[in-house]
Amino acid sequence: MTLNKDYLELVREDIKALSAYKVQEAGKLVKLDAMENPFELPGIIRQDWLKKLASLAVNRYPDPKAMKLKEKLSSFLGLTEDHDILFGNGSDELIQILMMALAKTNASVMSVEPSFVMYRMIARFCGVNYIGIDLKEDFSLDFDALKSAITSESPALLFLAQPNNPTGNLFSPDEIEQLIALSKGWVVIDEAYTAFADYDGQYLLDKFENVLILRTFSKAGLAGARLGYLLGRTEMLAELDKVRMPYNINSLTQALMESVLDHYQALQEQSKALVELRKALFESLVQLENVRVYASEANFILIALLAHDARTVAEQLRQSGVLIKVLDGAHPLLSNCLRITVGSKDENRMLLSALKRSLAE
Ligand SMILES: *Cc1c(COP(=O)(O)O)cnc(C)c1O
Repeated sequence: MTLNKDYLELVREDIKALSAYKVQEAGKLVKLDAMENPFELPGIIRQDWLKKLASLAVNRYPDPKAMKLKEKLSSFLGLTEDHDILFGNGSDELIQILMMALAKTNASVMSVEPSFVMYRMIARFCGVNYIGIDLKEDFSLDFDALKSAITSESPALLFLAQPNNPTGNLFSPDEIEQLIALSKGWVVIDEAYTAFADYDGQYLLDKFENVLILRTFSKAGLAGARLGYLLGRTEMLAELDKVRMPYNINSLTQALMESVLDHYQALQEQSKALVELRKALFESLVQLENVRVYASEANFILIALLAHDARTVAEQLRQSGVLIKVLDGAHPLLSNCLRITVGSKDENRMLLSALKRSLAE
């Protein structure tokens, strides 16, 4: 039976016009599409967590501010007393909280293109004007365009992913500092891939009041736990905290993250191994003909196919059992591009042989 149309007509026009965020069906495929860590949770962390779970009071609401976890993380990061931490159910939720809190009439949100699609999508959900400034062809910041856009539009929020997704590169730290200095709004440095990068923007907190550092545990091996965090000035985070749902971090995740921080080295070793695997995958990819390989500081590598159709190749990879992400069509600079998450040694080998077969056709 079809639904009475009147009920759908109540939905906001701008929401009806959207298409839902697509997650590809993975089944038994080798999953190299979503920047997940291919390794299992280290045993030492799992055992510690399971011990806590045995006596966890799940009949009670979780600690609304996750105080124990906050104290652990704060000392782990060496935060100063002027700064605080806000936890989110993934960093996606923190992006949403930022936009909800700053979405005044006529406020705008700015980022670069191509970058993380959720900046634009969540801006839409929150009814905030989104301004995307194109990167240069080599995916570096168009510094002059950004300077003039920041001056003329004065965005309430500027998001810069460092390193950037889906391009994998780091932007110039010097240019970022100049853009922060120029901004009257809040500047969010999204460090989702910091575990794999030779960059840490936390020093910016002590240099600029308007900087926030956004991080997540998702890409480093805990995507299923959904924990992101935002670092920034205490007064600013206190305003955001009013928008946050009181129990957004469940007690299982809080317990897990305490175990993670107590044994962080085990997780760090996985990230280090992935950086080595990325280097090896990069070396193999650059040897392929008719493929442009972009240098990456993250746990994925972007490639552009110069003589093949990206969608066709992705479909052939899927038939060979490997799932990657097609970026062709997402932005003119990503024409015929594919994004490959760095997997385990075996997974990368499967990807490479399937890709070689497809390119030989
Ligand atoms: C993956 C990603 C996020 C979101 O991560 P969560 O899983 O929601 O914590 C945020 N920013 C960038 C740039 C990402 O690539």
